[in-house]
Amino acid sequence: MNKTNIPPFDATVQYQKIADQIEKSICAVMAGGRYIMGPQVKEFEIQFAQYLGCEQVISCNSGTDALHLALRALRIGSGDEVITTPFTFIATTEAIGIVGATPVFVDVDFSSYNIDTSLIEAKITERTKAILPVHLYGRPCNMTAIMEIARKYNLKVIEDCAQATGATWDGKKVGTIGDAGCFSFFPTKNLGCFGDGGAVATSDPEIAERVEYLRRHGGKVKYHHEELGLNSRLDTVQATVLLIKLPYLDQWNAARSAIANYYLKQLAHVKGIILPDVVQGGNSVWNQFTIRVLNGQRDNLQKILKEKGVASMVYYPIPLHLQEVHTDLGYTSGSFPVSEQLSCEVLSLPMFPELEPTAQQIVTETVSQALADIYCFQ
Ligand SMILES: *Cc1c(COP(=O)(O)O)cnc(C)c1O
Repeated sequence: MNKTNIPPFDATVQYQKIADQIEKSICAVMAGGRYIMGPQVKEFEIQFAQYLGCEQVISCNSGTDALHLALRALRIGSGDEVITTPFTFIATTEAIGIVGATPVFVDVDFSSYNIDTSLIEAKITERTKAILPVHLYGRPCNMTAIMEIARKYNLKVIEDCAQATGATWDGKKVGTIGDAGCFSFFPTKNLGCFGDGGAVATSDPEIAERVEYLRRHGGKVKYHHEELGLNSRLDTVQATVLLIKLPYLDQWNAARSAIANYYLKQLAHVKGIILPDVVQGGNSVWNQFTIRVLNGQRDNLQKILKEKGVASMVYYPIPLHLQEVHTDLGYTSGSFPVSEQLSCEVLSLPMFPELEPTAQQIVTETVSQALADIYCFQ
């Protein structure tokens, strides 16, 4: 019998299913010669805006750049504060810092792993310009509460949707609720290309116009530059890949959801873990299926799973307020207890649309058995 080897993510099966289409289209781009801003870029922007249900999408080079461009478009910079979560990927605060603004953290809650909206108001000062919620693991934040606070204090809202392409809140796609939504097409995201890629979604024509020229060196007319911009365009080849993949996105997200439901059912009575809560008010797209492992057993469980050929990942082992890069913000251990506890407890199980039913079964059985062993050997 083959040794079990279940990866946390695998893009190759999906590729095989659409390889013919992709290879034909990429070859056509190569033969056509329009490698930068070819017609597929605009076409993808139009189709993605339609998919999301917003006025405009402006593509760019990465999700990190999408956040950077959105902040710049909203004229957020030096001296400004942006409220966000410490329990996210570094790109979120990197973008805030790069534009010269200061990230102000608000802890997450145990139920959603997302920003605890009941703690936001206490952190608002005269310098606060925006709230930057992150829809972590594909799970929508409580956007109703966030938009209410934003309206009350006249703040902008920039959604980090890097892990949540296609997720909904109150019937709307995330990324279309705040002033701007920032997406990543990194290969492991729900809609991934074959390299780096990103986009800003907005229904505000001024934001759209500013993002559009900031992404190409800050000039509305070629060789006339009004502001310092970036070189941050989506390659024509990547736009072509995304155009082919977009029509499959809902079906792939549904496949993730079915796997999540299977995991939830099979692991419901397993001792020593806490499963993700059901989302009230929206839909997750399950970029990750993340459990909490109690009693300090996370690393131990991960090690046992690895020995049995089941990969798992920790997103993220150190919350951002404790990262070396952010020591100047002055936070310490204990500043955000929920994020700190989660960083010791979270474990993401294999999750991608093509994960076979037999593999899903091996995952849940291996997790159950490992925990049974952990608790009876103690
Ligand atoms: C992936 C990710 C980003 C950055 O996207 P890139 O395309 O890799 O630059 C930003 N925020 C979160 C939460 C992410 O997971």
